[in-house]
Amino acid sequence: MTIKDNKKYSSPSHLVEGGCIACHDCDFLHRVIRVPGGGKALCSRCGAVLYRHIPRTIEKALALNLAALMLLIMTNVFPFMSLKLSGRIEETLFISGVFALYRQGMGEVAVLVFLTSILFPFMTIAGMLYLLFPMTFGYRPWKTGRVYRMVKAVTPWSLTAVFMLGVLIAFVKLLDLATIIPGISLYSFLGLMVVLTAAQANLDTCVVWPPMQFAPGGKKSGATAAEQGLIACHTCALLVPETHLSGYGQNDCPRCGTPLHSRKINSLNRTWALIAAASLLFIPANIYPVMTVIQLGREYPNTILSGVIHLIEGGMWILAFIIFFASIMVPVLKLIVLSFLLITVKKKSLWRSRDRTLLFRVTEIVGAWSMVDIYVVAILTGLVNFGTLSTIQPGIGVAFFGAVVVMTLFAAHSFDPRLIWDNMKGVK
Ligand SMILES: [Zn+2]
Ligand SMILES: [Zn+2]
Repeated sequence: MTIKDNKKYSSPSHLVEGGCIACHDCDFLHRVIRVPGGGKALCSRCGAVLYRHIPRTIEKALALNLAALMLLIMTNVFPFMSLKLSGRIEETLFISGVFALYRQGMGEVAVLVFLTSILFPFMTIAGMLYLLFPMTFGYRPWKTGRVYRMVKAVTPWSLTAVFMLGVLIAFVKLLDLATIIPGISLYSFLGLMVVLTAAQANLDTCVVWPPMQFAPGGKKSGATAAEQGLIACHTCALLVPETHLSGYGQNDCPRCGTPLHSRKINSLNRTWALIAAASLLFIPANIYPVMTVIQLGREYPNTILSGVIHLIEGGMWILAFIIFFASIMVPVLKLIVLSFLLITVKKKSLWRSRDRTLLFRVTEIVGAWSMVDIYVVAILTGLVNFGTLSTIQPGIGVAFFGAVVVMTLFAAHSFDPRLIWDNMKGVK
């Protein structure tokens, strides 16, 4: 185990010292040791972060989540952007894009935008406040496990940073068309993005759980949890002996209530199925227009690729590259990387396991940025609504593309990186 940062030592009260923790990416067991304040412990085998120690984490995370809640409310109450065209001013709210998509018969895409830009960020903030408030007074809230599981499930889907990039792209695209006046909501949303990221970076998740040692101290580190007959809880990282499951006929983690299993169930088949579905949907997503610009009564349909070409023709190279990278390169590379990982796991490959794990981690993080084009369409549809003079309508391609992004995100989620390491038994 590598300990980073050598500032001041203080006890990691959240973890039972002398106990063990299994790496969530490769299942390797490590003995829990003291970590300096602000430092983190890394897995010696795959480099994943095992746990961190953030001094005064509860107070910091609480303050940041409270600020995030206020900014989220401001984002949804005040005007978002105003557009001035030929003397007419169109004022929109943050949620206008969602309503515009719904009115145009794109209910599914409207729901996707609403969930990822409003509801999931709200659920993350509200869930964390529910957990952190009582904790500052030394109480553990009711149903901690269930609420934390909900927060953990929706956090990867609250895509405020991606939405912000969508706003910037929409901004640049509209520069030629009309005058844009940013509203208070836009600034609040920018603040929300920063504060929410800081809130997540300042949360030491271990404080959520009461200390509990299930894996007896006698268990040795240096093997995988599975080899030692232990199952690591996916939510709270508690190590539970397999005999606990068979002995009590109970499948849930005794600390947080998450159903326990050594590896994600049916991971390979589920990931293959999702990759196949995403690959098929990627074809109509690129053939059909994602949006149609109506100017002076004439219609100009745009596919993802023709949109990129228009941007290049207009001299907006950087923007063209961002859209091309996020909407075409990322989904394609993600499908290729996941297929590659699945094939190497199936072939029981021992080749560069650490690099393959890193590849998976990068794929998981970058994947969400594919949503950017969907947000651009949502924002433009909500903003540009000047009748025959100038109107932007969503195309059916955006619904297919939304399905591609969701499928690839689910595919990455259903892959279990520990499978990469399961063939390493006995290999040093
Ligand atoms: Zn590891
Ligand atoms: Zn648990």
